Amino acid sequence: MILLVILVTVVVSEWVSAEVRQAVLWFRHTKCLHRIVTESLLRCSLCGRQQEPAMTPSTLWAFDSYQRIRSRLPAVTVDSVEPQSVASLGVIADRFDGFIFDAFGVLNVGNTALPTARARFHDLQAMGKRCLVLSNAATAPQRQLVQKYRNLGFPITSDQLISSRMLVSAALGSETDQTWAVMAPSWARSDQLPCRSFLIANQDIQANRDRLDNADAVLMLSTQGWTDRLQQGLSDSLRRRLRPVWVANPDLVAPREDGLSLEPGHYAHQLADTIGLDAVFFGKPFSNAFDAAKTKLSHIPASRLLMVGDTLHTDILGGRCAGLSTMLVTAHGALKGLNIGTCMAESGIFPDFIAPEI
Ligand SMILES: [Mg+2]
Repeated sequence: MILLVILVTVVVSEWVSAEVRQAVLWFRHTKCLHRIVTESLLRCSLCGRQQEPAMTPSTLWAFDSYQRIRSRLPAVTVDSVEPQSVASLGVIADRFDGFIFDAFGVLNVGNTALPTARARFHDLQAMGKRCLVLSNAATAPQRQLVQKYRNLGFPITSDQLISSRMLVSAALGSETDQTWAVMAPSWARSDQLPCRSFLIANQDIQANRDRLDNADAVLMLSTQGWTDRLQQGLSDSLRRRLRPVWVANPDLVAPREDGLSLEPGHYAHQLADTIGLDAVFFGKPFSNAFDAAKTKLSHIPASRLLMVGDTLHTDILGGRCAGLSTMLVTAHGALKGLNIGTCMAESGIFPDFIAPEI
């Protein structure tokens, strides 16, 4: 009888504790569900439960994706700061002489200029401030990209724009004996790069399997026209023979008028996850981008330079690692609609200043 009572007690207590554990998990997941519903999350960040993929990536999916690849990004080597919220860049403009602006999410969304950003850019230049655009864009050649921003109302010269395309072009100049297979659409004019190359986009990847397998290296410039089938073909080819892969546009996503687009960094990290690729990246948050910007502004002390961006894991992380002051803008870009405090706490990446827009 005593044994029976003990047995029943153990079973009941196990059942109760299991129910309690389930209730706790459910409560945690309910908190996640709010984020899933509002942000179309692909994977619950608290319990890891997989969701059906959304048609387009959400800002929270992008944030979580950056967190997952964190070991491949530069480590934060400076002390964290207490971010100061300001109404706009105008409030702190007199503290700086040089401004380095990210493009997408700060100056423009897709092919649409942000009016307040355009006005601020004009004001700063009228005040005699030096303004640079530091963009991870790599599809368009330099001249075409400068013209795009001039058409959007940002009066820049070629000397005021550093793109990932420009960074990789400079590096390719010392790799002239290689043949590169290039991820890009035809209008990207990869034939203007200082190397032998052919396009892998818009081709029948099976019919061109030998050509791809014989390429010395791969250059990931642009996802326009890129498909899952092309990605699979590239992955298979690299699995047969692993070769150098350079990525000019380390971004995972970019803000467009109709949502976020997947960018070359996303596909490069997919290859890193599946076949162990160790790619070389050109652009933010890596030092090659910030070294180029600091060289152009070398007449201004680093303490008087401000990096302005919408992405914690590229603009702010890279700017902090480069020893620059940083400002995060939140209204239009990579963190739009998210809880910024939570994003900073989860990532451990803190800007000096936060504003909705510049
Ligand atoms: Mg951006």
